[in-house]
Amino acid sequence: MSNKYKDILRRYWGYEDFRGIQKDIIESIGSGHDTLGLMPTGGGKSITFQVPAMAQEGICIIITPLIALMKDQVHSLRRRGIKATCVNSGMTRSEIVTALENCILGGYKFLYISPERIGTQLFQTKLRHMHVNFITVDEAHCISQWGYDFRPSYLDIAEIRRIAPDAPVLALTASATPEVVEDIQLQLNFRETKVCRMSFERKNLIYIVRPADDKLREMVHILQSVQGSAIVYTRNRQQTQELAEYLINEGITATNYHAGLPQVKKDERQQAWQRNQYRVMVATNAFGMGIDKPDVRVVLHFEIPDSPEAYFQEAGRAGRDGETAYAVLLYDSRDCTKLLRRVGETYPEPDYIRKVYQDMCCYLEMAMGDGTNVTREFDLQDFCRRFRHFPVQAHSALLLLDKTGIIQFTEDEEITSRLMFSIGRDELYQLRERTEVQERIIHVLLRRYVGLFSEFAYIDEHVLAQETGLDYGTVYMALKEMAHSGILHYIPRKRTNYITFVTRRIESDEITLPREVYVDRRKQYERRIASMIQYVTDKDKCHSQFLLAYFGERDTDKCGRCDICIGDNILQKTEDEIREAVLRQLQNGPVAAPDMDYTSFNRNQFAKVVHEMVRHEEIALDQDQRFVLPSIS
Ligand code: ADP
Repeated sequence: MSNKYKDILRRYWGYEDFRGIQKDIIESIGSGHDTLGLMPTGGGKSITFQVPAMAQEGICIIITPLIALMKDQVHSLRRRGIKATCVNSGMTRSEIVTALENCILGGYKFLYISPERIGTQLFQTKLRHMHVNFITVDEAHCISQWGYDFRPSYLDIAEIRRIAPDAPVLALTASATPEVVEDIQLQLNFRETKVCRMSFERKNLIYIVRPADDKLREMVHILQSVQGSAIVYTRNRQQTQELAEYLINEGITATNYHAGLPQVKKDERQQAWQRNQYRVMVATNAFGMGIDKPDVRVVLHFEIPDSPEAYFQEAGRAGRDGETAYAVLLYDSRDCTKLLRRVGETYPEPDYIRKVYQDMCCYLEMAMGDGTNVTREFDLQDFCRRFRHFPVQAHSALLLLDKTGIIQFTEDEEITSRLMFSIGRDELYQLRERTEVQERIIHVLLRRYVGLFSEFAYIDEHVLAQETGLDYGTVYMALKEMAHSGILHYIPRKRTNYITFVTRRIESDEITLPREVYVDRRKQYERRIASMIQYVTDKDKCHSQFLLAYFGERDTDKCGRCDICIGDNILQKTEDEIREAVLRQLQNGPVAAPDMDYTSFNRNQFAKVVHEMVRHEEIALDQDQRFVLPSIS
């Protein structure tokens, strides 16, 4: 039986054999059992659904929230000669229809789909005609209300099971506490319990928790002590930029990333970091899902995350290549209090939530009884200024109102640019004063988009740039100019928030917060925060053991490498190593600074230690300014 799978593994992937629990998962789902696979990041979960799907007739549907991962995997399957496609929110309706029809008749083996699309009529209709071998649910913890990353759209997966009742389900996650493991199986209507578990232990990852009253200096110190690619996580969008600038000033290449940046910038920065053009990515937690950079050597947290799940996932992005890597968490004396305050910020009091609802309705000028299905743009900053709310609490209140189902709150939606000519076709051709740049852009616009003389069309400045051979900035400026001189209407892309009234506007005291939306989740959140505080302050328990126990693994070994296990001097060790290397080099006589061998160390740190050694008279300078061992007189 398993030879069939091994042959496929060798033929398409070129790997000799399966790793860890891959084989168990494959055999379980391959023989039609609903299966939950628990594997740490980097455990090799893609193989666990790709190989069995290749061994069977029909198509495998993979539900994943990670669009970047979808695209990467579709490319990589196609490179291996396997037919794969995807459906996500960034695609037009006709693109989606084509993709889905290919899945019915085109001999496709894999369909990746984002959770928001599975509830659509279109998908569900087409699904009835597909021959589905099994359904894979990636990031399966998102289906659980008890998880730290619950996504309501995941609940629609149960509907797919009704439409394709014969297809078994493979749920995969790298983050699940024991109660979430139970809940995933319940929510996905598992026919029987089947969990394949691989330890979440990451032997090459060294966890360090470091108190630091000057976190900036400590961050630099750590990044100078450990070489290689790094991620610094912080909570605040503004701070990502400040920290990146600080690092640049210290001679460390860095860039920043957060959800509020335009998609183009995000992609550019992520790719540049991935290619090692920047050593450090300073980011909020928006960065990382689905990023597969194997050689990240340090993940440093500048703030304490609000759950061990989040911490474990983020820290786990270090060392995917199996080489030694560090997960460092910095904290200062105020951080635990700040963390506790987050409970009230994330779950403000019910009366406050009602007040935000009322103010939001006034702000959007929504009359009592009106509003059903109305969508409005919503400027959170402006709202908070006008109604004197703290942005963090107001934001949380809106998220909770969204969860009650009264409104839908959509954040940071990027709206594509729109354009339409404001003069007729003849007039356009007769226009005399057109520059060469304008000429080229108009030419591409007319060729690429139809109906621009009668209605607005969505356009993509990148496509225009590519096809005109101009750069993005030039295209943007030229469109602005043409809009200014009355040739066309141009509405550039922007990011915005929306509020949709799902129900009519009601009196705020009619708002009820269901227990599972408020009280239960608040309690869960308090518990996670308490665990994080314990992780940071516990001076006895090995960090690796602590995290593993949180995920339900008992009786694990001490890692023997974290700061608890070996004392607080791991990073100090590098300095000691430099000291030894310097003394060794001077044993055979004086060495001039340019001739010093510092190749296995960071240059700045090496220089700093040498400087310190001179200052403390551990070494000296001779009359030719060469370093020497001090003479013993
Ligand atoms: P995950 O999604 O669990 O983080 P991936 O599926 O991306 O992990 O796999 C991680 C890496 O391990 C990839 O580079 C993959 O090609 C490699 N890999 C997976 N399975 C095997 C195997 N059986 N033999 C060798 N390499 C493997």
